[in-house]
Amino acid sequence: MDTAERVLAYGGGWLDRAGPLRTDPARMSALLTESTTVVLPMWRDRCLVDGDGPVRLTAERASLVRSAAGETVFLGLDGDVAVFAADLSGLPERAAVEMAGATRSVDVRALVGRLEPGDAAVQAYGRGLLHWHRQQRYCGTCGAAAVAGGGGHLRTCTGGECGRILFPRIEPAIIVLIEAPGPPGRCLLARHAGASEDAYSTLAGFVEVGESLEDAVRREMAEEAGVTVTDVTYQGSQAWPFPAGLMVGFRATATSEEVRVDGEELLEARWFTRAELRERVASGRSLGRVDAIDHQLLSTWVAAGD
Ligand SMILES: [Zn+2]
Repeated sequence: MDTAERVLAYGGGWLDRAGPLRTDPARMSALLTESTTVVLPMWRDRCLVDGDGPVRLTAERASLVRSAAGETVFLGLDGDVAVFAADLSGLPERAAVEMAGATRSVDVRALVGRLEPGDAAVQAYGRGLLHWHRQQRYCGTCGAAAVAGGGGHLRTCTGGECGRILFPRIEPAIIVLIEAPGPPGRCLLARHAGASEDAYSTLAGFVEVGESLEDAVRREMAEEAGVTVTDVTYQGSQAWPFPAGLMVGFRATATSEEVRVDGEELLEARWFTRAELRERVASGRSLGRVDAIDHQLLSTWVAAGD
Protein backbone atom coordinates (compact mmCIF):
# COMPACT_ATOMS: atom_id res chain seq x y z
CA MET A 1 0.00 0.00 0.00
CA ASP A 2 1.50 3.35 -0.88
CA THR A 3 1.32 6.40 1.32
CA ALA A 4 -1.49 7.97 -0.69
CA GLU A 5 -3.81 5.07 0.11
CA ARG A 6 -3.32 5.35 3.85
CA VAL A 7 -5.24 7.70 6.04
CA LEU A 8 -2.67 9.92 7.66
CA ALA A 9 -3.23 11.61 11.00
CA TYR A 10 -5.36 14.78 10.68
CA GLY A 11 -6.93 13.44 7.46
CA GLY A 12 -10.02 11.34 6.81
CA GLY A 13 -12.30 13.40 9.03
CA TRP A 14 -15.83 12.07 9.41
CA LEU A 15 -17.57 15.32 8.55
CA ASP A 16 -19.38 16.10 5.35
CA ARG A 17 -18.02 19.62 4.83
CA ALA A 18 -21.33 20.56 3.20
CA GLY A 19 -19.81 23.47 1.29
CA PRO A 20 -23.06 24.56 -0.43
CA LEU A 21 -24.68 25.26 2.97
CA ARG A 22 -22.05 27.88 3.78
CA THR A 23 -23.52 30.31 1.28
CA ASP A 24 -26.99 30.15 2.85
CA PRO A 25 -26.92 32.54 5.83
CA ALA A 26 -30.47 31.67 6.91
CA ARG A 27 -29.62 27.98 7.02
CA MET A 28 -26.40 28.71 8.90
CA SER A 29 -28.29 30.68 11.57
CA ALA A 30 -30.93 27.96 11.86
CA LEU A 31 -28.31 25.23 12.25
CA LEU A 32 -26.55 27.18 14.98
CA THR A 33 -29.59 27.13 17.21
CA GLU A 34 -30.73 23.54 16.68
CA SER A 35 -30.72 21.53 19.89
CA THR A 36 -28.60 18.72 18.40
CA THR A 37 -25.94 21.05 16.98
CA VAL A 38 -22.46 20.34 18.32
CA VAL A 39 -20.03 23.12 19.17
CA LEU A 40 -16.34 22.30 19.63
CA PRO A 41 -14.78 25.01 21.79
CA MET A 42 -11.14 25.93 21.26
CA TRP A 43 -8.71 28.23 22.97
CA ARG A 44 -5.66 29.68 21.16
CA ASP A 45 -4.89 26.65 18.98
CA ARG A 46 -5.72 24.22 21.75
CA CYS A 47 -8.55 21.76 22.31
CA LEU A 48 -10.54 22.01 25.51
CA VAL A 49 -10.74 18.57 27.04
CA ASP A 50 -12.17 16.65 29.93
CA GLY A 51 -11.40 13.06 30.92
CA ASP A 52 -12.96 11.72 27.70
CA GLY A 53 -11.07 13.95 25.28
CA PRO A 54 -12.13 17.16 23.52
CA VAL A 55 -15.50 18.34 24.79
CA ARG A 56 -18.50 18.44 22.43
CA LEU A 57 -21.10 20.93 23.54
CA THR A 58 -24.80 21.02 22.75
CA ALA A 59 -27.86 22.98 23.80
CA GLU A 60 -27.41 25.61 26.54
CA ARG A 61 -23.69 25.12 27.06
CA ALA A 62 -23.14 25.43 23.30
CA SER A 63 -25.18 28.61 23.22
CA LEU A 64 -23.26 30.09 26.15
CA VAL A 65 -19.92 29.37 24.48
CA ARG A 66 -21.08 30.81 21.15
CA SER A 67 -22.14 34.04 22.80
CA ALA A 68 -18.64 34.45 24.27
CA ALA A 69 -16.72 33.25 21.20
CA GLY A 70 -14.75 35.50 18.88
CA GLU A 71 -15.75 33.48 15.83
CA THR A 72 -17.93 30.43 15.42
CA VAL A 73 -17.25 28.55 12.19
CA PHE A 74 -19.20 25.81 10.43
CA LEU A 75 -17.13 22.65 10.05
CA GLY A 76 -19.77 20.46 8.45
CA LEU A 77 -22.40 17.82 9.03
CA ASP A 78 -22.08 14.61 11.01
CA GLY A 79 -25.10 12.86 9.51
CA ASP A 80 -27.87 15.37 10.21
CA VAL A 81 -25.99 17.06 13.03
CA ALA A 82 -24.20 20.34 12.33
CA VAL A 83 -20.75 20.74 13.86
CA PHE A 84 -19.22 24.14 14.58
CA ALA A 85 -15.96 25.25 16.20
CA ALA A 86 -16.03 28.26 18.52
CA ASP A 87 -13.03 30.38 19.43
CA LEU A 88 -12.68 31.30 23.10
CA SER A 89 -9.21 32.79 22.62
CA GLY A 90 -10.41 36.19 23.85
CA LEU A 91 -10.87 34.83 27.36
CA PRO A 92 -8.15 33.98 29.86
CA GLU A 93 -7.38 30.25 29.71
CA ARG A 94 -9.06 29.40 33.03
CA ALA A 95 -12.27 31.17 32.04
CA ALA A 96 -12.35 29.43 28.64
CA VAL A 97 -11.83 26.02 30.24
CA GLU A 98 -14.58 26.63 32.78
CA MET A 99 -17.04 28.03 30.30
CA ALA A 100 -16.59 24.95 28.10
CA GLY A 101 -17.10 22.60 31.05
CA ALA A 102 -13.62 21.23 30.36
CA THR A 103 -10.75 20.53 32.72
CA ARG A 104 -7.80 21.80 30.69
CA SER A 105 -6.54 22.89 27.30
CA VAL A 106 -4.19 20.75 25.23
CA ASP A 107 -2.68 20.74 21.74
CA VAL A 108 -4.33 18.16 19.48
CA ARG A 109 -0.86 16.90 18.51
CA ALA A 110 -0.35 15.77 22.09
CA LEU A 111 -3.63 13.84 21.95
CA VAL A 112 -3.51 12.38 18.49
CA GLY A 113 -2.55 8.82 19.44
CA ARG A 114 -5.45 8.61 21.89
CA LEU A 115 -8.14 10.10 19.65
CA GLU A 116 -10.14 8.41 16.94
CA PRO A 117 -8.41 9.52 13.69
CA GLY A 118 -11.58 11.29 12.53
CA ASP A 119 -11.79 13.25 15.77
CA ALA A 120 -8.17 14.33 15.49
CA ALA A 121 -8.88 15.45 11.92
CA VAL A 122 -11.88 17.55 12.94
CA GLN A 123 -10.02 19.15 15.84
CA ALA A 124 -7.11 20.01 13.56
CA TYR A 125 -9.50 21.41 10.95
CA GLY A 126 -11.23 23.64 13.51
CA ARG A 127 -7.93 24.75 14.95
CA GLY A 128 -6.56 25.75 11.53
CA LEU A 129 -9.67 27.64 10.49
CA LEU A 130 -9.98 29.57 13.76
CA HIS A 131 -6.27 30.39 13.68
CA TRP A 132 -6.72 31.96 10.25
CA HIS A 133 -9.58 34.17 11.50
CA ARG A 134 -7.41 35.51 14.32
CA GLN A 135 -4.62 36.31 11.85
CA GLN A 136 -6.83 37.87 9.17
CA ARG A 137 -8.77 40.47 11.06
CA TYR A 138 -7.92 43.20 8.56
CA CYS A 139 -7.77 43.50 4.82
CA GLY A 140 -4.19 43.38 3.55
CA THR A 141 -5.04 45.69 0.66
CA CYS A 142 -6.75 48.67 2.33
CA GLY A 143 -6.37 47.95 6.05
CA ALA A 144 -10.09 48.05 6.84
CA ALA A 145 -11.60 45.46 9.17
CA ALA A 146 -12.64 42.18 7.54
CA VAL A 147 -15.69 40.28 8.71
CA ALA A 148 -16.35 36.56 8.61
CA GLY A 149 -18.86 35.11 6.16
CA GLY A 150 -19.57 31.91 4.27
CA GLY A 151 -20.03 29.93 7.48
CA GLY A 152 -16.55 31.04 8.54
CA HIS A 153 -14.78 30.00 5.34
CA LEU A 154 -14.06 33.49 4.07
CA ARG A 155 -13.76 37.08 5.28
CA THR A 156 -14.94 40.18 3.47
CA CYS A 157 -13.23 43.57 3.66
CA THR A 158 -15.55 46.29 4.98
CA GLY A 159 -13.62 49.14 3.31
CA GLY A 160 -16.24 50.70 0.99
CA GLU A 161 -14.46 50.73 -2.38
CA CYS A 162 -12.34 47.69 -1.68
CA GLY A 163 -14.61 44.88 -0.47
CA ARG A 164 -12.00 42.23 -1.12
CA ILE A 165 -12.90 38.65 -0.28
CA LEU A 166 -10.22 36.86 1.70
CA PHE A 167 -9.93 33.08 1.82
CA PRO A 168 -8.04 30.91 4.31
CA ARG A 169 -4.37 30.59 3.45
CA ILE A 170 -2.71 27.23 3.15
CA GLU A 171 1.08 27.01 3.02
CA PRO A 172 2.32 23.96 1.10
CA ALA A 173 5.59 22.29 1.98
CA ILE A 174 7.33 19.40 0.28
CA ILE A 175 8.80 16.47 2.18
CA VAL A 176 11.05 14.07 0.35
CA LEU A 177 12.48 10.60 0.75
CA ILE A 178 15.64 10.62 -1.37
CA GLU A 179 16.97 7.27 -2.57
CA ALA A 180 20.60 6.58 -3.44
CA PRO A 181 21.39 6.25 -7.16
CA GLY A 182 22.51 2.61 -6.97
CA PRO A 183 22.47 -0.50 -4.78
CA PRO A 184 22.29 -1.27 -1.97
CA GLY A 185 18.96 0.51 -1.35
CA ARG A 186 19.57 3.51 0.89
CA CYS A 187 17.70 6.68 1.73
CA LEU A 188 19.02 10.04 2.83
CA LEU A 189 18.10 11.30 6.27
CA ALA A 190 19.28 14.44 7.97
CA ARG A 191 19.78 15.83 11.40
CA HIS A 192 17.98 19.17 11.55
CA ALA A 193 19.16 22.18 13.52
CA GLY A 194 17.49 22.14 16.92
CA ALA A 195 16.71 18.42 16.79
CA SER A 196 18.20 16.04 19.32
CA GLU A 197 21.61 14.45 18.72
CA ASP A 198 20.40 11.20 17.18
CA ALA A 199 17.17 12.36 15.50
CA TYR A 200 17.27 11.81 11.75
CA SER A 201 14.37 12.64 9.46
CA THR A 202 13.50 13.18 5.84
CA LEU A 203 14.20 16.50 4.14
CA ALA A 204 11.52 19.15 3.74
CA GLY A 205 10.96 22.74 2.75
CA PHE A 206 8.37 25.34 1.82
CA VAL A 207 7.15 25.85 -1.71
CA GLU A 208 7.98 29.34 -2.99
CA VAL A 209 5.93 31.69 -5.14
CA GLY A 210 6.01 30.75 -8.81
CA GLU A 211 7.26 27.25 -8.15
CA SER A 212 5.72 23.84 -8.88
CA LEU A 213 5.89 21.20 -6.17
CA GLU A 214 8.48 19.28 -8.20
CA ASP A 215 10.57 22.45 -8.66
CA ALA A 216 10.46 22.96 -4.91
CA VAL A 217 11.70 19.41 -4.33
CA ARG A 218 14.64 19.91 -6.69
CA ARG A 219 15.55 23.34 -5.28
CA GLU A 220 15.24 22.45 -1.59
CA MET A 221 17.26 19.25 -1.92
CA ALA A 222 20.02 21.13 -3.77
CA GLU A 223 20.04 24.02 -1.28
CA GLU A 224 19.86 22.07 1.95
CA ALA A 225 21.82 18.93 1.13
CA GLY A 226 23.72 19.74 -2.08
CA VAL A 227 21.94 16.84 -3.78
CA THR A 228 20.64 16.87 -7.34
CA VAL A 229 17.54 14.69 -7.65
CA THR A 230 15.58 13.13 -10.52
CA ASP A 231 12.47 10.94 -10.79
CA VAL A 232 10.47 13.14 -8.41
CA THR A 233 7.28 11.18 -7.76
CA TYR A 234 4.26 12.11 -5.66
CA GLN A 235 3.50 9.81 -2.72
CA GLY A 236 0.67 11.46 -0.82
CA SER A 237 -0.26 14.54 1.15
CA GLN A 238 -1.18 15.38 4.71
CA ALA A 239 -3.20 18.19 6.20
CA TRP A 240 -0.92 19.95 8.68
CA PRO A 241 -2.91 22.90 10.02
CA PHE A 242 -0.27 23.85 12.61
CA PRO A 243 -1.05 26.54 11.76
CA ALA A 244 -1.59 26.43 7.98
CA GLY A 245 0.47 23.71 6.40
CA LEU A 246 -0.14 21.11 3.76
CA MET A 247 2.64 18.52 3.60
CA VAL A 248 3.16 17.01 0.16
CA GLY A 249 5.25 13.84 0.17
CA PHE A 250 7.59 12.75 -2.63
CA ARG A 251 10.23 10.24 -3.45
CA ALA A 252 13.19 11.23 -5.58
CA THR A 253 16.46 9.68 -6.64
CA ALA A 254 19.82 11.37 -6.14
CA THR A 255 22.17 11.54 -9.12
CA SER A 256 25.19 11.11 -6.82
CA GLU A 257 25.88 9.90 -3.31
CA GLU A 258 27.78 13.05 -2.49
CA VAL A 259 26.08 15.16 0.18
CA ARG A 260 26.89 18.70 1.30
CA VAL A 261 24.62 20.06 4.01
CA ASP A 262 24.02 23.78 4.38
CA GLY A 263 25.06 23.77 8.05
CA GLU A 264 22.11 26.01 8.92
CA GLU A 265 18.91 24.04 8.49
CA LEU A 266 20.71 20.71 8.28
CA LEU A 267 23.65 19.81 10.46
CA GLU A 268 24.36 16.43 8.93
CA ALA A 269 22.88 14.08 6.33
CA ARG A 270 23.75 10.47 5.67
CA TRP A 271 22.55 7.39 3.82
CA PHE A 272 20.73 4.66 5.71
CA THR A 273 20.00 1.12 4.55
CA ARG A 274 16.69 -0.56 5.37
CA ALA A 275 18.50 -2.83 7.82
CA GLU A 276 19.91 0.19 9.66
CA LEU A 277 16.47 1.76 9.93
CA ARG A 278 14.95 -1.50 11.18
CA GLU A 279 17.69 -1.62 13.78
CA ARG A 280 16.83 1.91 14.90
CA VAL A 281 13.18 0.93 15.28
CA ALA A 282 14.15 -2.24 17.17
CA SER A 283 16.18 -0.14 19.59
CA GLY A 284 13.17 2.03 20.38
CA ARG A 285 13.77 5.02 18.09
CA SER A 286 10.87 6.04 15.89
CA LEU A 287 11.08 6.81 12.20
CA GLY A 288 10.12 10.47 12.28
CA ARG A 289 7.06 11.84 14.10
CA VAL A 290 4.53 9.03 14.30
CA ASP A 291 1.64 11.34 13.34
CA ALA A 292 3.47 12.85 10.37
CA ILE A 293 3.86 11.92 6.72
CA ASP A 294 7.63 11.52 7.05
CA HIS A 295 6.97 8.50 9.27
CA GLN A 296 4.74 7.08 6.54
CA LEU A 297 7.27 7.80 3.79
CA LEU A 298 9.97 6.05 5.78
CA SER A 299 8.00 3.07 7.01
CA THR A 300 6.60 2.46 3.51
CA TRP A 301 10.12 2.54 2.08
CA VAL A 302 11.53 0.25 4.77
CA ALA A 303 8.70 -2.26 4.24
CA ALA A 304 9.29 -2.33 0.47
CA GLY A 305 12.60 -4.23 0.49
CA ASP A 306 15.17 -6.27 2.40
ZN1 LIG B 1 -9.92 46.10 1.72
